[in-house]
Amino acid sequence: MAAVPPLRRTDSARGEFSPLKRFVVAKKKISDVFEQLLNYVKETSEFVEETNGNKALQNIASQDQKLEIQAYADKLAVIKEVLARRHMKVAFFGRTSNGKSTVVNAMLRDRVLPSGIGHTTNCFLSVEGTDEDKAYLKTEGSDEEKSIKTVNQLAHALHMDESLDAGCLVRVFWPKTKCALLRDDLVLVDSPGTDVTSELDSWIDKFCLDADVFVLVANSESTLMNTEKHFFHKVNERLSKPNIFILNNRWDASANEPEYMEDVRKQHTDRCVNFLVEELKVVDRDQAPNRIFFVSAKEVLNSRMQRAQGMPESGGALAEGFHERLKEFQCFERRFEECISQSAVKTKFEQHTIRAKLITEKVKSIMDAINIEAAEKRVAALEDREYQIDRLEFVKNQLRLLIDDIKAKIKAISADVENKWTEAWTASEQRKARFFPIPSSTLVDLKDMWRWVEVRVELINDYMETADLLSHGDGYLEERQPEISVSYRTPALSRNNLWPSSKNPEVWKAVGWKLIALSSSLYGLLYLYERLTWTTKAKERTLKRQFVDYATDRLQLIVNFTSANCSHQVQQEMAATFARLCQQVDQTQKELEAEIRQLTAKIDQLETVQSHSKILRHKATDLEKQLEAFTYEYLQPQQ
Ligand code: GDP
Repeated sequence: MAAVPPLRRTDSARGEFSPLKRFVVAKKKISDVFEQLLNYVKETSEFVEETNGNKALQNIASQDQKLEIQAYADKLAVIKEVLARRHMKVAFFGRTSNGKSTVVNAMLRDRVLPSGIGHTTNCFLSVEGTDEDKAYLKTEGSDEEKSIKTVNQLAHALHMDESLDAGCLVRVFWPKTKCALLRDDLVLVDSPGTDVTSELDSWIDKFCLDADVFVLVANSESTLMNTEKHFFHKVNERLSKPNIFILNNRWDASANEPEYMEDVRKQHTDRCVNFLVEELKVVDRDQAPNRIFFVSAKEVLNSRMQRAQGMPESGGALAEGFHERLKEFQCFERRFEECISQSAVKTKFEQHTIRAKLITEKVKSIMDAINIEAAEKRVAALEDREYQIDRLEFVKNQLRLLIDDIKAKIKAISADVENKWTEAWTASEQRKARFFPIPSSTLVDLKDMWRWVEVRVELINDYMETADLLSHGDGYLEERQPEISVSYRTPALSRNNLWPSSKNPEVWKAVGWKLIALSSSLYGLLYLYERLTWTTKAKERTLKRQFVDYATDRLQLIVNFTSANCSHQVQQEMAATFARLCQQVDQTQKELEAEIRQLTAKIDQLETVQSHSKILRHKATDLEKQLEAFTYEYLQPQQ
């Protein structure tokens, strides 16, 4: 008996360096990216909603964009959930008693599934990890966790459960702490046996479409059966290039006839290669040997169980060639792990990665659109503000100029009006001649004196009428109004007629009353004169002259008073109009300033929108980079 060489470290410490970790790490990475992406899309969704809801920022973000992003967020949330549940799945097929359950147990390094009694049920059995420290099972359509302490209990449970239909699924949950494979997100599915069913199609639909690897457990003591081949042909019709491994099990039996071993192995290998390469066309000829193994699951399981219990591997005699077979089993495990992890990463994450890239791309383009829209609006607002500032500046300047101008004009117009009065009074030589020469000697009697006063009062009246026409009847002030307001191009100003009616009867009333009062006092004097019949001629002459002097003086006063008063009135009117004008300018100025303030606030808001959309765009680029890196690392075609 050959000395038993020590087992290689890799057999016991596979977990550390398992290729399955690739899937585990990839899953974590892509889940992280999806988490970030989901948060990112939620953030953009809030941003778009905020922008869309802001009245001042109309038409920058549309309702459609808002809905589109919300739909992405929903989609991502679903994908994230799906990703969290993703695992690698290997399904074992082959005829009953070829050793499928034993292979599963050997890989799990424990007797998890019952074996050796034929397949206990017509059910599929899956084994997956649980974080709990006890094993349990769940049958299809029930959430009840049925505790199982031993493999016999499981066999019994399956056997006794009459509710289990053929082709249903029983899920066995096995503590992850007991098995490294299960920690690495692998689910193993044992089938009832390709020979026991006629419902291959429904099996395939139910259990095979999401399987990453198929293992055909064949019996090396016989040839591949047609039922086995037939099943894989069906699988091949439904899936493109399924990953298929063939384990020629029970290879330990060949040790009994070593002289035929090589021939038998070659014969099996040729048939298997032919099946995979020629019939199924799922693998290239040069790769085929990496898919075909000659093993003894029973030996591997036994030795691993023994080791686990700290006992020598065999507990007794080891069949000839055990180590080669163990090595080959390990080799199978290694190839299987590489294959399943590579394949599962691709099939389970590739589509989602592409979807994630598309979503990122779309969101990015929405951010771009918002950025461009905000930029255009901002430029327009900046131009508008520039224009309003110019207007304000112009109005302020014009006002300054106008103040000086108007002051001068008021002065000039007042003087002008006063001059016009005087001119009007003195212009008429005839009036002067009738008013000023005072030929008191011609006043012979009281009747003459009455006439004299009457003539002058009439003269003054005429003059008053002329003056009245002059001051407002001939549109003197109206004519000058444009000089004042024409300088303003501000529509707010030109809209209003700034120049009020200059017809103010008050002044004329006041003057008129004075005239009447004066006239009555003169008439009073004349009446007195009429009563004083005692007067001498000389006295009479003196009185007459005094009366004429007095009356002329008073009448002249009235003329002067009226002209000064009118000029003052014009001045006042102009000042009032000017004040109103200033008020209007002030109002316009305030309106312009308010508009400028509003534009500034809008520009600020647009700037914020722009910078926010830029930040979000950069975030999208960052996510894209992460997705690219993920694609590069995990989804490149196999070498
Ligand atoms: P299944 O019906 O395909 O799941 O087959 P099982 O795993 O239940 O195995 C059927 C019988 O074959 C059991 O008694 C196993 O111990 C035995 N068996 C499984 N694998 C081997 C092997 O590699 N060599 C030998 N000699 N027996 C094996």
